[in-house]
Amino acid sequence: MFIEYDLFRQRADALLLRIADTCRAAGRSPQEVTLLPVTKTHPAAAADYALRYGFSAVGENRVQEAIEKRAQAPGALRWELIGHLQSNKAKLAAVHFERVQSVDSEKLINALDRAAGEQGKKLAVLLQINAGNDPAKFGAEPADAAKLVECVLAKPNLQVDGLMTIAPLSDDPEVARKTFANLRTIRDELAARFGVSLRELSMGMSGDLEAAIQEGSTMVRVGTGLYGPR
Ligand SMILES: *Cc1c(COP(=O)(O)O)cnc(C)c1O
Repeated sequence: MFIEYDLFRQRADALLLRIADTCRAAGRSPQEVTLLPVTKTHPAAAADYALRYGFSAVGENRVQEAIEKRAQAPGALRWELIGHLQSNKAKLAAVHFERVQSVDSEKLINALDRAAGEQGKKLAVLLQINAGNDPAKFGAEPADAAKLVECVLAKPNLQVDGLMTIAPLSDDPEVARKTFANLRTIRDELAARFGVSLRELSMGMSGDLEAAIQEGSTMVRVGTGLYGPR
């Protein structure tokens, strides 16, 4: 049984308040942080709820799952891919997503650029950086980030909006905080070096969004906090 819309609405209201309070306490404007509902593993109704509430985009971590869901949930939503993407699925991703947040290799950049070109579209991307140096996580090593920025900036069919990271699972909240601070430092260095803004910092999920906002997140990706456990 999937949750009722009313419960979703209450959770979204509360979450937006929590985000706004965290922003204000950190001296930031609540408008600087976007909440991305993560609909993975939930039915197409999850996307409908998001649209009905007024969200403009949802996040999915699997290409095939998103394609099926999107076909049942028409509307003005934008779909963002937040899960690992293999180069052989770049074409599908370029067709079915407005933005890919999980770009972590030159091979994938090349494949997405080609696929976006074939679609005649400019595809927005984020570079996923393993800013917590977590062996269990996808994402490029911080040492390879500059190489990837250089590569993506040379692609006519890709637009790089910024960086994304996932903090390592840990009981110590400082681990997540350090990961987020590290991503922001990496972004600031790359932005200065390449003369681009890399404005978007997609970091923070249900369990660690306060620390992420305090460290400069512009997008928190929340599944459990809106739709319940998976
Ligand atoms: C599932 C997922 C989320 C949401 O996680 P919750 O803890 O359920 O909020 C965020 N980001 C990515 C990359 C995910 O795969």
